[in-house]
Amino acid sequence: MKLIIATNNEKKLRELREIMGKYFDSVQSLKEAGINHETVEDGVTFEENALKKARETAKVSGCAAVADDSGLAVDALGGAPGIYSARYCGRHGDDEANLRLVLKNMENIPQRSARFVCALAYVNGDEEAVFRGEMEGEINFAPKGEHGFGYDPIFYLPEYGCTSAELKPEEKNRISHRAKAIAKLAEYLGDKK
Ligand code: IMP
Repeated sequence: MKLIIATNNEKKLRELREIMGKYFDSVQSLKEAGINHETVEDGVTFEENALKKARETAKVSGCAAVADDSGLAVDALGGAPGIYSARYCGRHGDDEANLRLVLKNMENIPQRSARFVCALAYVNGDEEAVFRGEMEGEINFAPKGEHGFGYDPIFYLPEYGCTSAELKPEEKNRISHRAKAIAKLAEYLGDKK
């Protein structure tokens, strides 16, 4: 049985492929499967967007599919940037401008709790399941660290005493919201193969 991972993001692919390879004969990205379909992410929750992406990918490919949607939720900003994390500044994928806008909106706000959220959806025929992973932290007052991507340089992890951009990639991959959601999916799949 073949599984399609609904992303072309290399980092996400590597993480998911490692786990899902145990359950499926073949695991491919959208590109590898020759799928050009782009899902319109118009849901109002991470879960809705992830499920929509997984459903559409399963439908166009005729295979099982997993898809994720993730982002940063800042309590003092009412959960923003949330599902709009990739385009908070108005331009899709401008990581630097996105994090600068969070810092600006958090100026003079002492309550800095936030979390990264990942919803991971799995669709296999009629079977559908969605899992959520979260990583708790605080919005730092300035960017720090060279690793990671997106909001990592401003995401401070109190128990590590550094931002998630200062963690080694393998360390972040062990504790991340994505890792937690993937672990839940693996637990769900159990020894299904
Ligand atoms: P998407 O799930 O690929 O659409 O990602 C949404 C956006 O959330 C990314 O563009 C990043 O800005 C942010 N994001 C998601 N996960 C992380 C993370 O682990 N570190 C930093 N930013 C993240």
